Amino acid sequence: MQPSDYITLEEQYGAHNYHPLDVVLERGQGVWLYDVTGKEYMDCLSAYSAVNQGHCHPRLVQTMIEQAQRLTLTSRAFRNNKLGQLYQRLHDLTGYDLTLPMNSGAEAVETALKAARKWGYQVKKVAPDQAEIIVCEGNFHGRTIAIVGFSSEAQYKEDFGPFAPGFKLIPYGSAKALEAAITPNTVAFLVEPIQGEAGVVMPPAGYLREVRQICDRHNILFMADEIQTGLGRTGQLFACDHEGVRPDVMIIGKALAGGFYPVSAVLASKAVLGLFRPGDHGSTFGGNPLGAAVAIEALAVLTEEKLIENAYELGEYFQERLAEIPSPHIKEVRGKGLLIGMELKPEAGGARRFCEALQERGILCKETHQHVIRFAPPLVIRRKEIDWALQHITEVLNMK
Ligand SMILES: *Cc1c(COP(=O)(O)O)cnc(C)c1O
Repeated sequence: MQPSDYITLEEQYGAHNYHPLDVVLERGQGVWLYDVTGKEYMDCLSAYSAVNQGHCHPRLVQTMIEQAQRLTLTSRAFRNNKLGQLYQRLHDLTGYDLTLPMNSGAEAVETALKAARKWGYQVKKVAPDQAEIIVCEGNFHGRTIAIVGFSSEAQYKEDFGPFAPGFKLIPYGSAKALEAAITPNTVAFLVEPIQGEAGVVMPPAGYLREVRQICDRHNILFMADEIQTGLGRTGQLFACDHEGVRPDVMIIGKALAGGFYPVSAVLASKAVLGLFRPGDHGSTFGGNPLGAAVAIEALAVLTEEKLIENAYELGEYFQERLAEIPSPHIKEVRGKGLLIGMELKPEAGGARRFCEALQERGILCKETHQHVIRFAPPLVIRRKEIDWALQHITEVLNMK
């Protein structure tokens, strides 16, 4: 089969809810991907930061095979011998008391929203059905109906209503707006420390520290969605660590199982997650032994291979070098660690054509919104690989 045959199959028999670059991949190793013709590409997206550990990491392959041969799914009707170990590992790594495991990121966000409301009614004593949760313009927290209901992106919501009430949108990066939006019924503030899908949008320095203080002052939960920014991507375990801030509720997913399996989780104190009783919430696949085993190993790879430190060092290097590229098209380069956004000027004609030109040269990037190219390679990348990419990126950004 030719690449075009695979593409035709997808187009003919699948819903068209994505607009992918037309590269048909069949194999990956570390930062490198290979298409069905054998052409090699550097991955600069990492499946939206789900493969921080690199493609097909040998330790994760081994764990996956061994666990798949033993036991894959018990449901939570029974216990399994991996889940408790994952909980302990997350506790040791992050300091949070408790974990609630789910699968996709959106499910973990939904879980956090439920936890915040329950805490609001049971602990803060908000009147029944009055709880409010504050979120930010430009947010991306997933695709369920409740979550898109509080998106500010028209396309995410169009023709999907009616939506759940109880959410309030404020501008991102404004501590003042947060304080002004709080009412006695506010139970939580849900925020991304860097907005990935919005185009690697950075809040002003000190924002998260102010958020922490405001949440404390008004007795509301600070909930961080670190599904994309967490687990080393920005050069710290969590992006909130850059400001030394500890949210009450931490939401993780994506790289938690290194791209092998969907595993997400909500981490919080006993005062929050301790409120769930049997039957309140659940998931058939959440906490399964296959996902748990791979997640345990994926976290071990992250720390033992010093991937967070590598993201810090090489992220700084990559971002500095990208910012030095002389090009009439670049408006701004921004980011933290290996989560970097390059915003192009409107006159550049959109980021898509640059992504297509990079694809030609063996670099896979995806535009986010119209004018931003995101550079987020697996955290196992090496300096000489970045140097190789920079040559091509420089040339592409000097196209007419
Ligand atoms: C990807 C992402 C999600 C949604 O995760 P899914 O696994 O796609 O449901 C939520 N929040 C953020 C910040 C993300 O980047």
